Amino acid sequence: MSNPRRANSSLRNKLRARVIREETHCWLCSLPVDKTLPHGQPGSPEIDEVIPVSKGGSPYERSNCRLAHRLCNQKRGNRQPQHGEKAPPSPLAPLKTSRRW
Ligand SMILES: [Zn+2]
Repeated sequence: MSNPRRANSSLRNKLRARVIREETHCWLCSLPVDKTLPHGQPGSPEIDEVIPVSKGGSPYERSNCRLAHRLCNQKRGNRQPQHGEKAPPSPLAPLKTSRRW
C-alpha cells in the first residue's frame, strides 16, 4: 500500500524543483533570487502558493506555485495577525476604568 503523504511530498519536491528551474525572480518583490544560497537564508529560494493552501489553493499545481525569497514568503505569511505578539497595548482599551465618578 502506498503512503499518500509520501507520494504528495515527492510530488511537491518535483514541483519545487521545477519552479526553481523555471523562474528566476521573486514574485513578491520582483528581485532576482539567488538559487545558490543554502536553505534557511533570508534570500534562499522558496516556493510560495499564490492562493494559500488554507484558502483552497493547491500546493501541487504549477500555476499556483511561484518562486519567492524565504524572507518575502515569511513576511507575507506573517501579514495576518495571529498571536498579537509585540503589538502595542491600545491606549483606548475600554476594559480598565480608573476614573471615579
Ligand atoms: Zn522577494
